[in-house]
Amino acid sequence: MAAPDWPASVESIVASVAIVAGGGWAVWKWGYGETLRKRREFPDLDGTLTAASVALPGGKAYLTLQAVWRNPGAVAVRVCLDPGHSFVEQYELGKDPPLGSFRMAGYPGAAKVATVPVPPRVTTLGPQTESVMTEHFVVAAGSVYAFNWQICQGPLSRKALFHGQCDRELIWRSPPPTPARANRAVPRIRAERRLGRRGGQQA
Ligand SMILES: [Zn+2]
Repeated sequence: MAAPDWPASVESIVASVAIVAGGGWAVWKWGYGETLRKRREFPDLDGTLTAASVALPGGKAYLTLQAVWRNPGAVAVRVCLDPGHSFVEQYELGKDPPLGSFRMAGYPGAAKVATVPVPPRVTTLGPQTESVMTEHFVVAAGSVYAFNWQICQGPLSRKALFHGQCDRELIWRSPPPTPARANRAVPRIRAERRLGRRGGQQA
């Protein structure tokens, strides 16, 4: 009886295992690469809101709200224009809220002042770019406001049934009113006018 050729068998087993392992590694690598590629093509916006105001006499102010949207992905994001999908909301917040956390959605201490829909034009946020958007509001001096800016990115993939939205919120206090200075200035002007009138009569 011939003895089995052990070294040859072991060699062929090792070779088979290596082929299977190599094939598995290639398949895993391909799958991982595909996942990364799809993730890169997945719209994923990032944004920042800032506010600046100009005080007006009479207890009001103009407010400019600016959003900077960053698209770090590899594909462009076209802002969805479906009604109610992309907008800016302005809320006035109560000044004596109970302590604790709250969320803007459904918060009873927030009164909606305005909803501004996104302008009805095609807006595309290019890949690896920053896009600045601006809206203006009139606000009451000395009040606290919350702004919610939502950008709808449309369906996140070809098979997606729902649209993906990116929201950013900002709580902001408008500058206090300055009525005292204005009140003091008005009587002085009136007094000068009255003096002038008297002087004219005396001449
Ligand atoms: Zn949408």
